[in-house]
Amino acid sequence: MYPRGVHIVLVEDNPQLAGTISVGLGEDGYSVEVIETAAKAIARGLRRDLDLMILDLGLPDRDGVDVLRELRTARIHVPILVLTARDAVESRVAALDAGADDYLVKPFAFTELVARIGALVRRAGGPRWTPSSDIPILMRDDLMVEANGKAVSLSPREFALLGCLVRRRGEVVTRIEILREAFGYDFDPGTNVIDVHLTHVRKKLAGFPIAIETVRGAGIRLMVTG
Ligand code: CA
Repeated sequence: MYPRGVHIVLVEDNPQLAGTISVGLGEDGYSVEVIETAAKAIARGLRRDLDLMILDLGLPDRDGVDVLRELRTARIHVPILVLTARDAVESRVAALDAGADDYLVKPFAFTELVARIGALVRRAGGPRWTPSSDIPILMRDDLMVEANGKAVSLSPREFALLGCLVRRRGEVVTRIEILREAFGYDFDPGTNVIDVHLTHVRKKLAGFPIAIETVRGAGIRLMVTG
């Protein structure tokens, strides 16, 4: 079943490393969102709708340990895997003390990262996607979407696409962002892949209290209607 529906937030300011990790995890079926700063990581973590955070400790604005402390103080119990530099023994200890679930020392083998992620997700009881209370639909782990007593089944890609739009509801999400977050592409394949899936999602969710709008030249936006 793994990693279907598992959403990972990767906090890493090195664009090359972030790109390599997110493409690799995307190929393994995870949906990955990249964040570059500690401030954004804290804000993102507080929204709760993620299954795992990979956290680099050396961030441009604040130490990754501050992110851990702030999220744990706010009772955010999402699994957090820390990435640390080889020589920073004390920061590794500080990270574990501050609530990290596991750590990996850079440079690491990608297979090891995947193994650690799998272990953390299993330990956390699998994907538990809890939508915020202001979204009137429930996205279940078995790819069913529920609202007003109705339930429909989505394909993994449709589910990932909807999840990406739900997380950013009210905002225009660009096609590139959707390709990256929902499809794991770091390039535009130049096809209408998003539109095809979007058509299916709209059809399946007709009558649900949401509207998915195409904003010409900008991207796609999900609005709550009910
Ligand atoms: Ca860094």
